[in-house]
Amino acid sequence: GATKSSNFLRQIIEHDLAKGTYASRRWAGSPGDATHHASAPHDPARIRTRFPPEPNGYLHIGHAKSICLNFGLARDYGGVCHLRFDDTNPEKEDTEYVDSIIDAVKWLGFDWAQLGQAPGSAAPYQASDYFDFMYRAAEALIERGQAYVDEQSPEEMRANRGDFSKPGIDSPYRSRTPAENLARFREMRDGKLADGAAVLRARIAMDSPNINLRDPAIYRIRRATHHNTGDKWCIYPMYTFAHPIEDALEQITHSICTLEFEDQRPFYDWLLERLIEAGLLAAPAPHQYEFARLNLTYVITSKRKLAQLVNEGKVSGWDDPRMPTIVGLRRRGYTPAALQLFAERIGVTKSDSWIDYSTLEGCLREDLESQAHRGMAVLDPVKLVLTNWDEVMGASHLEPCSLPALPHVPEGQPEPAARQFTIGKEVWIEREDFEEVPPKGYKRLFPGNKVRLKGGYVIECTGCERDATGRVTAVLALLVPDTKSGTPGADSVKVKAAITWVGVADGVAAEIRLYDRLFSDAHPDAGGKDFLSSLNPDSLKVVTGYVEPSLAHAEPDQKFQFERHGYFVADHQDHVKGQPVFNRAVGLKDSWGK
Ligand code: ATP
Ligand code: MG
Ligand code: MG
Repeated sequence: GATKSSNFLRQIIEHDLAKGTYASRRWAGSPGDATHHASAPHDPARIRTRFPPEPNGYLHIGHAKSICLNFGLARDYGGVCHLRFDDTNPEKEDTEYVDSIIDAVKWLGFDWAQLGQAPGSAAPYQASDYFDFMYRAAEALIERGQAYVDEQSPEEMRANRGDFSKPGIDSPYRSRTPAENLARFREMRDGKLADGAAVLRARIAMDSPNINLRDPAIYRIRRATHHNTGDKWCIYPMYTFAHPIEDALEQITHSICTLEFEDQRPFYDWLLERLIEAGLLAAPAPHQYEFARLNLTYVITSKRKLAQLVNEGKVSGWDDPRMPTIVGLRRRGYTPAALQLFAERIGVTKSDSWIDYSTLEGCLREDLESQAHRGMAVLDPVKLVLTNWDEVMGASHLEPCSLPALPHVPEGQPEPAARQFTIGKEVWIEREDFEEVPPKGYKRLFPGNKVRLKGGYVIECTGCERDATGRVTAVLALLVPDTKSGTPGADSVKVKAAITWVGVADGVAAEIRLYDRLFSDAHPDAGGKDFLSSLNPDSLKVVTGYVEPSLAHAEPDQKFQFERHGYFVADHQDHVKGQPVFNRAVGLKDSWGK
């Protein structure tokens, strides 16, 4: 990782690798009954990270940061990263989400491993596969006096937990014997108690200054059918209990999560230490580290709010190009390299901050600049008629022209074929490139002025035609003979501007979707604001323009720089060769708010 800038996580990993923190794996006594995990292959030389999404929605740009971080650290330090579906919550989970998460991770360029299985061949892990082990772990805590069944009402439990100003009050059930607790816990498991009638709690300390250590609940009763385990269980582990166990069973070394879990770390450590003492887990335990989640201006990343945008039809779907979802960004024209660059550039810190949206856009521009083929497109077309064409070139003559696909071909890459197109008597130009009465400093078309049609000829403007409303319907000009680009006469006439154009004969009409930010407020959901009230009414403008032949025959998802307009992608869904549909990915310069 010599080219990567260092950060606190890299320093920790480098330290652990140097010290051999995870070089051996030991059980206290003989491994607890059980477990296929005890015999799982141990891989001492590596670090193991994990990306553990809940399959309850589409991944977004914040998840992309976490993916790039976890998989990137594993890659850079010769380790591996696991993909684990955190499905311990029996709530409705959808294979649609599972599939989309798998796609997103792969598309970003990463692959996951399992213990004993290298990336490329491994399946993702599912946290629900550990339910049996988690249940045994709960019983082990009970047997050792470290957990108890509490039958206070939820209100009592909340009131007795205390708060920052006062210690909690022991539950009357806290002094039950292990035998009583075990029997009662089994009754919970066997469906003898109603949902909510009891919880299993870790017995730690009701006077801890950290509220999370005041005997946290670790199992609850919930009659719900789980997508993986069906109706086998009516009790489910709490996330804070399940997650450390998942990490430990998978021999994760560095468990990286967002800052809001910082206060949970003491419980994470407490639990794993107890289960190591009980012989159920091997030491050393994984370690939790926290980093600041991504906050991006003009963007919301709450899955619930993103779902609301989809469900209320504010956007066309999860993959609407204005969505900050990975599928949305992808359809917008973002590349894996741009998102990786973004993750690298914003780095990881231990304090929350806002990243400006233009940082993300800058990364896309930077990636596309050197590789997106150039092309000309006219987005607000008006016809330009070369009134002397028939005399000079011959009626209906079309003159072939060409321009390079890339102005600079990166070292070591083959030069792409040049773009071929034709010029004839009529071409499309941008409406703003003609002014009958030019404003000061205007260098484009006005009567008497000469410009170059880029890659074509020098022309001299003579005037225009207008309809009854005064709208310009055609711009008129004379071709200056023998000035074709790339011929000896090209420099014979000096001009101050070269304008983009598309031939009427070979240009193709295209639907062009001009996307802008979805919100006009930099912090659309800060401070309890109604985020829907700051939706940008101009976040999508659809125009019909004309594109040169090389663009019209693009493949879906292919990205281009439309000269002067920005970077565009042929839409994944709707683009068909010959009937082009393009999305604006990002403008050429950062012009937001300017
Ligand atoms: P949401 O709040 O959108 O529901 P989540 O954190 O509940 O997100 P998970 O599926 O649990 O969603 O997230 C998987 C991983 O992605 C977690 O490790 C989480 O820390 C990380 N993650 C989620 N959002 C962000 C973010 N904005 N920045 C960085 N990492 C994130
Ligand atoms: Mg979560
Ligand atoms: Mg969530």
